[in-house]
Amino acid sequence: MQPDEPRPSQGPPDHLCGDPAGPPVCGLPRAPYPRGMPSETYPAYLAAHASGELERRAEEAVRALARCEICPRNCRVDRLADRAKVCSTGRRARVSTYFPHFGEEDCLRGWAGSGTIFFSFCNLKCVFCQNHDASQAGDGDEVSPERLAEMMLELQAMGCHNINFVTPEHVVPEILEALPLAIRGGLRLPLVYNTSAYDSMESLAWMDGVIDIYMPDFKVWTKESGIRYLKAKDYREVACRTIREMDRQVGPLQLGPDGLARRGVLVRHLVMPGLLDESRAIFEFLAREVSADTYVNIMGQYRPEYRASEYPEIDRRPTVDEITAARRLGREAGLHRFDARRPQRLFVVG
Ligand code: SF4
Repeated sequence: MQPDEPRPSQGPPDHLCGDPAGPPVCGLPRAPYPRGMPSETYPAYLAAHASGELERRAEEAVRALARCEICPRNCRVDRLADRAKVCSTGRRARVSTYFPHFGEEDCLRGWAGSGTIFFSFCNLKCVFCQNHDASQAGDGDEVSPERLAEMMLELQAMGCHNINFVTPEHVVPEILEALPLAIRGGLRLPLVYNTSAYDSMESLAWMDGVIDIYMPDFKVWTKESGIRYLKAKDYREVACRTIREMDRQVGPLQLGPDGLARRGVLVRHLVMPGLLDESRAIFEFLAREVSADTYVNIMGQYRPEYRASEYPEIDRRPTVDEITAARRLGREAGLHRFDARRPQRLFVVG
């Protein structure tokens, strides 16, 4: 879920610096918000909150925990009674960590960081997971809706450009439950839904008009790889359906004049060793069945972690040639919007 290691903040491009309610981040004069936001209709959840629709959806989503089909695992376990199954999560979400993240894409991290909230546990069982302490072992603490709302407001006060929910697939009801509290507390940042793309259509319907930026990670293409590496035989079908729906809701990624993501879909794809045919199929799907304008981050930092040593064919880093070839395959598929890092300009905060 992390495209790169955290790194020092870059200075703002033109003295814009997050929320005026927060502490100084860059030490320079600043505008109240990045240009163009917020307004009565942006971020998207403001309208849903004003109409009462957000609270209605939160109530519906929490009720659905009684027979959980929040994600495509369809466990049908009673999470309201704190029972848990595949995602090991009962009534409350668990948070591993939260902080301004400077390792995300430039359009998310900007100069003050992306306000990431890493949820513990996951509905996938990726054998190569780089965050397995949190995603599989469940490192972290249970949070109440009030505490989750506080985390969002703390990140906003730190000057972050967005709230970035990492691994949210199994805690959509808990996020919805916390959002009205955060909004009443002054939350005005756009929301990023940072997912493995193994989401249910019902969850996406609840998030329609709430999420501004969807960031699905399309991992593998074939059924065999879904079973072998993610322990999900229907991964491809679900991911295709998920990304189509996300695109229907918010369309291709739009950037503001300050370079920050404002709305749309940003697809990630981690190049896996020896799986270039799967990369090609994923890019062709995106170009032909979603949009050639889909914004894609082709990531080259796969490293064998967790249980990868049990799978010899992925127990190595991809070669430079493989990463280069993946980028070429993306262009050949017809895609033309690829994420690229700005040259680093180190900026010391303090
Ligand atoms: S959210 Fe968790 S309990 Fe619910 S269906 Fe998915 S894996 Fe099962």
